[in-house]
Amino acid sequence: MVSGMATFRAALSSASLGSVRSSLGARVGSGGADKPPRYSAAGLFIKGARREEWPRVWREVDLARSYDAIIIGGGVHGLATAYYLATNHGITNVAVLDKAYLGSGGSGRNTAIVRSNYLTPEGVAFYDRSLTLYNSMSTDLNLNVMFSERGHMTLAHTDGALRTMNWRAEVNKLQNIDSSVIDPAEVKKLAPSLDVSGDTRYPILGALYHPPGGTIRHDAVVWGYARGADHRGVQMHQRTEVFDILCEGGDGPDGKGPGGRVTGVRTNRGDISAPIVVNCTAGWATTISDMAGVRLPITTHPLQAAVTEPVKVFLPTVVVSGSLHVYVSQTDRGELVFGASVDPYATYSMKGSLEFTEELAGHVLELMPGIGRMRLLRQWAGLCDMTPDYSPVMGFTPVDGFLCDVGWGTYGFKAGPVSGEQMAEAIATGRTPKLIEPFALSRFAAGDLVGEKGAAAVGH
Ligand SMILES: Cc1cc2nc3c(=O)[nH]c(=O)nc-3n(C[C@H](O)[C@H](O)[C@H](O)COP(=O)(O)OP(=O)(O)OC[C@H]3O[C@@H](n4cnc5c(N)ncnc54)[C@H](O)[C@@H]3O)c2cc1C
Repeated sequence: MVSGMATFRAALSSASLGSVRSSLGARVGSGGADKPPRYSAAGLFIKGARREEWPRVWREVDLARSYDAIIIGGGVHGLATAYYLATNHGITNVAVLDKAYLGSGGSGRNTAIVRSNYLTPEGVAFYDRSLTLYNSMSTDLNLNVMFSERGHMTLAHTDGALRTMNWRAEVNKLQNIDSSVIDPAEVKKLAPSLDVSGDTRYPILGALYHPPGGTIRHDAVVWGYARGADHRGVQMHQRTEVFDILCEGGDGPDGKGPGGRVTGVRTNRGDISAPIVVNCTAGWATTISDMAGVRLPITTHPLQAAVTEPVKVFLPTVVVSGSLHVYVSQTDRGELVFGASVDPYATYSMKGSLEFTEELAGHVLELMPGIGRMRLLRQWAGLCDMTPDYSPVMGFTPVDGFLCDVGWGTYGFKAGPVSGEQMAEAIATGRTPKLIEPFALSRFAAGDLVGEKGAAAVGH
């Protein structure tokens, strides 16, 4: 793999490092005051009484003609990468570009489930680090991201599924992850609304129970990272669409492709130069990588979700059924949030479908017959960038300075913090951090896949 270190270090001249530090000095206080201000009830009262405007969550600034790094995609991955570049490495001359608004992709459309009970040791270690970062996020970002550690339960309806649950539980325990197989009586105790009788089409034989899993408010995470990055000097540019990646020296047309290096991007607002360009565009990942002459083994599929009217809270944990292609959790407001597996066709359309709603309703009622009279409020769809092994593609590519953090399928929200942290380290040091080594693009040529389908197909 090509290292981005030489390019990045050369580009980060001592002059620009100097200005990075002086801008840090101006914006950041000492003694732990280097965080954006905390929102408080008192602040809310005072602002209301004085009829004061709230400050913008992030600034609107002019687009510069060059940056030390450009991140394409203003979702949780792009914003977390920018935040950790600034916070952990002092690199702030960074722009996050999004063709729409921050959080308009999967980051603002997901069902907000987080967990770390994956199937492979590589996956477990990676997602566990993300959960650790999520645990301290409200303090780190000075913003309540509403982490609800309510537990995550994956139902087994067949002997084969039960075997996979036992396998996962053992892999998890070896890495100190709280995860174990429970029987139908324990399932009933944790989620009394589930039908655990033996006379259903898919009887519940047991479940993998993972107490540290839960949900987090997805838009708070997006805004928290954007606010934190902005506070340290990173720029966010919405309605800024990347049309092309500018390269030189590569094997392909216009200097693109393996052996070349990135020099910047072409946007609807003009050309911008940068020695580092990071692809964090999830469902649009291949459209961006193609612009640099880098082929990714990714197809884009829609994933749909739906939410009911609010009712009194009765479902205290997240419930997932792989066999029935459905998962459900209840929000603090009382709505049931449902999801499924991806639609089976590749498209960039984000339209919902009646087929989804019909199938969802049928499967949900097999699990919870008691909620037949609840009304669905709305449904929506987002795009998922699916890889053959259900693991991401992260790090350097054969084009120097062009990095990818993509292949997030249906599980990328929970991976946002660790991905941002690790991608920032890769950019700042020019080396691939250990935690993301297994997810290199080269694994597909080497046949060294990280097979997570057994834990990620519906699990989220
Ligand atoms: C319905 C649904 C439910 C889900 N549930 C879960 C869940 O419970 N748990 C979980 O972990 N994951 C879940 N996911 C997956 C998760 O949402 C995604 O994997 C994750 O949000 C990807 O984040 P991202 O920052 O990489 O990309 P995104 O948030 O998709 O952001 C990509 C951004 O790139 C921008 N962009 C694209 N092309 C360009 C361009 N040419 N120029 C500039 N900008 C561009 C887009 O506008 C977009 O804002 C779900 C997804 C969906 C759709």
